[in-house]
Amino acid sequence: MEKFEQIFKYVNDYAEKLVAEQGQEYLDALLQTLEDILDGKYDWQVEDAKKEDMRKAIQIAILKGMRKSAQPNHQMTPDTLGLIVSHFVEQCFEQELEERAISVVDPALGTGNLLFTVMNALDGKVQATGVEVDDILIRLAAATGDLIEQPVTLFRQDALANLLVDPVDAVVCDLPVGYYPNEEIALDYELCATEGMSYAHHLFIEQSLNYTKDGGFAFFLVPANLFESDQAKQLHKYIKGHAWIQAVIQLPENLFSSKAHEKSILILQKQSQQLKAPREVLLAKVPNMSNREALALFFEKVRLWKESNDQKR
Ligand code: SAM
Repeated sequence: MEKFEQIFKYVNDYAEKLVAEQGQEYLDALLQTLEDILDGKYDWQVEDAKKEDMRKAIQIAILKGMRKSAQPNHQMTPDTLGLIVSHFVEQCFEQELEERAISVVDPALGTGNLLFTVMNALDGKVQATGVEVDDILIRLAAATGDLIEQPVTLFRQDALANLLVDPVDAVVCDLPVGYYPNEEIALDYELCATEGMSYAHHLFIEQSLNYTKDGGFAFFLVPANLFESDQAKQLHKYIKGHAWIQAVIQLPENLFSSKAHEKSILILQKQSQQLKAPREVLLAKVPNMSNREALALFFEKVRLWKESNDQKR
């Protein structure tokens, strides 16, 4: 058994015991398990486990719990997507990361899987903040962050209300998709719908840029048809006025359960008077992840794009 599987077994056995003895939901039992480990009441006894082993083990346990209490809006961001996002964060902050840590916020933190995948990939180089409205998810994220020793400040609140967050170098966010129910708060946004309800995913893009430093980057997982909706014109106009589109990356279809769930990566850079717009926007498609050669070519294309944009800065 690999280390993450061993850790999963310890965590899962303890959580299942709590379910059987106390009749808890699996996710609540899992949370108690993680908190008991942090309190020193239980140990998963896997020597030399790495942060990634722990993250993966907890991720599998959360997925198991989520399958039992299926809530469509609580989709965890899968590793593959997190790893691709990490690669782009590393590319866009190559120079900064040589000298300092970068500040990152995930305003739709969920379980923290996306943010922690990025933090583990850039270990020691990220100071993070997470915002999430759901109580159990943010508590799971808090326990995971403590266990894998990643520095993250958390806020349980509506991320579209005012945030107590200083502008960051980067936003990473797997956008919640759908209508935003609080029409009063929506009125504060340029992207508030002129008729009917506003799209949460559009408001999240605007809010993310509100908390990004000039010249900073936002890495979004967006619905693949983001620019085809009835409010797309408004979104285009907003983006043009505030940010530069750096890249639009299509993701392999086989990562998603159906066409309606397909996502892309949208990378924006907040406009800055000190910088120039990128000459070349990267439009690319990630090949099937099992095709190593095609994947290597894709990453080479990303490297060349980044290099040519850097030279023209
Ligand atoms: N990246 C996350 C992960 O790896 O678990 C998954 C993010 S999930 C696609 C979107 C998240 O946004 C959900 O956890 C949902 O509860 C949260 N969310 C939706 N609306 C929100 C709001 N207004 N403020 C804060 N969080 C919100």
